[in-house]
Amino acid sequence: MSFLFILLATASLFAQIEQGVVRIKLSESKAAMLQNTKVSKSGAGYLRTGDVSLDVAFAECKANGLKRVFRHGGKFEAKHRKHGLHLWYEISFDKGVSVSSAVAAFAKLSDVQVSEPIHEKAIIGYHPMKMKEIFSLSTEADDPQYSNQWHYNNTGQTGGTVDADVDLPEAWNLETGNSDIIVAVTDGGIDVDHEDLAANMWVNTAEIPGNGIDDDGNGYVDDINGYGFGDNSGTIPADPHGTHVGGTVAAVTNNGIGVAGVAGGSGSGDGVRLMSCAAFGANGVGGFAETYIYGADMGAVISQNSWGYTNPGVFEQAVLDAIDYFIAEAGFDESGNPDGPMQGGIVIFAAGNDGLDAEWYPGIYEPVLAVGGTDHNDGEYTSSNRGDWVEMAAPAVDVVSTTPGNTYSSFTGTSMACPHVSGVAGLIISQNLGNITPTQVWARLVQTTDPLPGLEFFGSGILNAFAAFLQDDGVAPEAIVDLAVAS
Ligand code: CA
Ligand code: CA
Repeated sequence: MSFLFILLATASLFAQIEQGVVRIKLSESKAAMLQNTKVSKSGAGYLRTGDVSLDVAFAECKANGLKRVFRHGGKFEAKHRKHGLHLWYEISFDKGVSVSSAVAAFAKLSDVQVSEPIHEKAIIGYHPMKMKEIFSLSTEADDPQYSNQWHYNNTGQTGGTVDADVDLPEAWNLETGNSDIIVAVTDGGIDVDHEDLAANMWVNTAEIPGNGIDDDGNGYVDDINGYGFGDNSGTIPADPHGTHVGGTVAAVTNNGIGVAGVAGGSGSGDGVRLMSCAAFGANGVGGFAETYIYGADMGAVISQNSWGYTNPGVFEQAVLDAIDYFIAEAGFDESGNPDGPMQGGIVIFAAGNDGLDAEWYPGIYEPVLAVGGTDHNDGEYTSSNRGDWVEMAAPAVDVVSTTPGNTYSSFTGTSMACPHVSGVAGLIISQNLGNITPTQVWARLVQTTDPLPGLEFFGSGILNAFAAFLQDDGVAPEAIVDLAVAS
């Protein structure tokens, strides 16, 4: 019986690390050598570079494939090199060789800075609920489902506590979004043709759809609304989770259709734009690290993430390096000159749904803002992860948003809390276009929350969109958008 247990435990451990592949980060000199070397194969079929130490390691793990983790950056290559992205290589090898021995074979080389496996990642789980009846047309935003979105404005419509929400209509009196702001959503794909999302999808105008050519030379073919990283395709698969998350950030507000999005505009084409970075594809999962590079280089300044690792305590340095790149380089052009609505980026992660205080990456990584979950009474969503690394909370239970095929659904999970914060980040930047830093956006989000007594493991408290707009003197700035909203 103990033997069986060990077998099962081993099987599940193996399932959480990708077999037959490792990633290494080389020294500058070794990477330069590799770049100028024609890689061949030995008689046995193993990679051969002429570099003795590398070739020994390649033979040891029976390596048969080598590629850069981050594709060539085109006009952004100099920036990529500044961040050491060119030093990362992915090595594939015989699956008969264990990942741990392959990691060790490279880790012992003096010219290898990092040697790591690829850990399993998952969309943070969500629990779909049957859609409730539509109660009535709202007098605030005219979207028919708006009155069901208790998380924006809680009137007790779901049996919860009045005002246990994020004070969104009050914030909409001041700001509803700006189309210059792009939110990169690393997730399953967004349904780019959804009736309540299409108008707020970011469009890469330098790319011609469907011609099979990388027209803008950014390394991605037919990337119109983002990229299908998991499938390595310009086609973005419509995923329920990604579509729901995207809708919370920026479904088109006040268009008489479907739901409202937090930063979805006023109904006149002024919502923030959604860039779909589908690392969870229809046929494959991958490219996580590259989503942050793509997002920053293509103009996003907010990175929305409702995904995580399937085990606590594990991370990939390649992904953290890429997150660092987004935070440092978003909003700058290839020469390092400001060209976005904010200089630098903000990266926001869901805490996860394991109900545990543990080291859940990437949310626990210090430079990212981690979001836990609440319910319609400002009580805890009990499955939310927690701990002193969680900065704040937002509504997670029965959140109403878009789902593929022009449908609308109510989902539960910290995945649903996180995009509320990303959306309000979009509102804050909208109102302070070109005049606010990522650090200031972070401070406004985290320091203006409503405290949650007894739930200090969720950081400072629950998101308050309206309070995030109050100036230092406690007075709201003058309204600049006239969306007939009663606060
Ligand atoms: Ca392209
Ligand atoms: Ca709508």
